[in-house]
Amino acid sequence: NLTQRLSRVVKTLRGEARLTEANIQAALREVRVALLEADVALPVVKEFIAQVKDKALGQEVQGSLTPGQMLVGVVHRELARLMGEHNEPLNLATAPPATVLMAGLQGTGKTTTTAKLARLLKETKKKVLLVSCDVYRPAAMEQLRALAQQVGCEFFAPEPDEAPEAIARRALAWARSHFFDVMLVDTAGRLTIDEEMMAEIRRLHEALKPIETLLVVDAMQGQDAVNTARAFGEALPLSGLILTKLDGDARGGAALSVRHVTGKPIKFVGVSEKLNGLEPFHPERMASRILGMGDVLSLVEEVQRSVDRAEAEKLARKVKSGKGFDLEDFKAQIQQMRKMGGLSAMLDKLPLQVSQAVQGVPLDDRAFRRIEGIINSMTPQERAKPEIIKASRKRRIAAGAGVSVQEVNRLLNQFEQAQKMMKMVSKGGLQKFMRGMRG
Ligand code: GDP
Ligand code: MG
Repeated sequence: NLTQRLSRVVKTLRGEARLTEANIQAALREVRVALLEADVALPVVKEFIAQVKDKALGQEVQGSLTPGQMLVGVVHRELARLMGEHNEPLNLATAPPATVLMAGLQGTGKTTTTAKLARLLKETKKKVLLVSCDVYRPAAMEQLRALAQQVGCEFFAPEPDEAPEAIARRALAWARSHFFDVMLVDTAGRLTIDEEMMAEIRRLHEALKPIETLLVVDAMQGQDAVNTARAFGEALPLSGLILTKLDGDARGGAALSVRHVTGKPIKFVGVSEKLNGLEPFHPERMASRILGMGDVLSLVEEVQRSVDRAEAEKLARKVKSGKGFDLEDFKAQIQQMRKMGGLSAMLDKLPLQVSQAVQGVPLDDRAFRRIEGIINSMTPQERAKPEIIKASRKRRIAAGAGVSVQEVNRLLNQFEQAQKMMKMVSKGGLQKFMRGMRG
């Protein structure tokens, strides 16, 4: 798989000082195959590889990164950049109702996504009207009506045998006169791209003049998603894309391809069948997914940037020299983590198994500060030898820090976890530890 490929890439380049045409050739071949395996369309892959090569050539290998890590870093960054760099939010900046037209093939998740979107908008206090123009399948209308009820948004009821455009026009007038902020319009899809469907959605677009025309694409369609995106992109002035079913085992390569062929930003991703399963799209995360490696790359970079290297090495030496890792070190470590944006930010970036291993360690800034407070209430002797902290000392520390004894206990447990982590680190230093995490 991809991860194996990339670690092979990393190995082939170990010990080189600079990325050159010669030393990245084999690596780029691996990246190419990897992207194809992740379902990225061939023309997209070709162009991408050329860009990466351009960016990577001549780069000095920084600090303790291997050239392979450097190249993978470039690949990762370029992937994210190609997908838009930042999340592009929904554009609702127009005279209300801001109309959003949903397009896509049948079964991609249009109706579900329409309801999910309504739910998100409702959370931001928008008054949302749901409209279904899928007149071909009565069940489709009922589906949206039921979903509207679940998310607590109003559903626009069509007349019997009303044509899609008529529904759209009437709904728009109604939304206007009833002061809706947003109107989401679900449409009929077909199983395959056909002219009739395209003509209909073009007419709907004409009638509604939506501020957003979103194409819903199923990530599991892989290569086929490219054809869908191209056809819809040619027929309609799309403003964005939504990629659904990313909770499946889809590699996410479709994200890169559809973005490339339409030139439009992916705004959201569907991550479950449930109505809360819609998230803003983050290019960085998708790049990691395509590369199959968590956000470990950016973690490596962050560690390089913000951990005080000397401090970390001093810590590692201390552990190695058998002096042990004490609460004073723990506090120093926590301060470093705070600099890095908190452990939760870090945990997000780690592969699941590592995240699980460090569960039980505090997750937010407030928790960090409480821990510092508790450690500050200990005597130097207690910090150096936490094992002497028994019941009466715990009570004194708790009172001093203004916390409960349970919290002191929790801290001591967390410290033990950290001690275990530090033992791993001491086996080969921080860099090796980080490399180890990349699998
Ligand atoms: P439509 O024909 O495009 O309107 O598609 P539907 O909204 O009816 O969805 C088709 C199927 O895909 C339904 O079973 C949905 O529950 C499912 N679905 C939609 N989005 C997602 C998603 O993000 N993840 C998963 N697992 N299933 C989804
Ligand atoms: Mg539908």
